[in-house]
Amino acid sequence: MKRRRRTCSTLFLFAIVGLAPSARGWGCTGHQVVAVIAEEHLSPHARDMVAQILAAGPIDPALRRFCGANTLDAFADSSTWADDQRSIQPDTAGWHFIDIPRGVAKGAIAPYCPPSTSCITRAIDDQMAILRNINASAQARADALRYIIHFFGDLHQPLHATSNNDLGGNCVPVSFFGAAPQERNVTKESYAPNLHGIWDTDILERFAGGQTPQQFADEMSVKFKGQIPAWLRERVDVVSWAWESHQLAEDSVYGALPRKVAIETPVEVKACSDDQHISTRMLNLHEQVGADYQAAAEGVIQEQLTKAGIRLAAALNAVWK
Ligand SMILES: [Zn+2]
Repeated sequence: MKRRRRTCSTLFLFAIVGLAPSARGWGCTGHQVVAVIAEEHLSPHARDMVAQILAAGPIDPALRRFCGANTLDAFADSSTWADDQRSIQPDTAGWHFIDIPRGVAKGAIAPYCPPSTSCITRAIDDQMAILRNINASAQARADALRYIIHFFGDLHQPLHATSNNDLGGNCVPVSFFGAAPQERNVTKESYAPNLHGIWDTDILERFAGGQTPQQFADEMSVKFKGQIPAWLRERVDVVSWAWESHQLAEDSVYGALPRKVAIETPVEVKACSDDQHISTRMLNLHEQVGADYQAAAEGVIQEQLTKAGIRLAAALNAVWK
């Protein structure tokens, strides 16, 4: 099921690429920041191992890299590979998120992880098993590490762990600082800006635009200096982090919108035209996202990106203890 368009909805990119949004998760900067933060907290042994593994199974030079040829090292460059890889391997689309319906009580996560598509929590487990398997091929282990680097980022984007029959907020048109939502696909009834896109990219670009991933990461190291040691010591628990994202989506993503978005009764949705034209119904709420929403969301995004990086480092350190 390759339904969810995970992102990159900046008008800027539409103008440049001239395409509908394609799936990016946090966008280039967000994923790269997670990787830079993680690298700084790897143990010396883990740092050697990840460098060796990535070098032994390099990225196919023919793969089109959405985030461009950049000056990042192999670890940070790997953070955006999974979104590029999805374009040639569409059956991996379901690995980037988990659709936990809004309003469900915290409990077993398996019901929200269909065997046919998998989901982000299972994908992390599966790729961790490949990474640990010294009999797996060099390419498989390198790609497993690239998936893990990327999925730790995605897991901390609150809208990658929730859904309201709206493809993780992709079907919630919003006006962003006065830019009114425009219909992007008449058949699928998709719009931009939308709630998912602003959380992936627009809010972040508004406060961090122009910063390099390293500058952003340095700022986060100072801002969260007090919390980082505790995050690094936490038990690696991907399922509880998915629930944490799910709760954040409720409190800080939907809950902070000026107009209340009702919880839908879960039905299967493949496009924003489903569930009785969910995007049209959401459009009629006329959600206006501006300075107040931005100010509250910035802190959440900064903390989530930093946690993702620290937790990624802890998980990799545990592989090579
Ligand atoms: Zn992704």
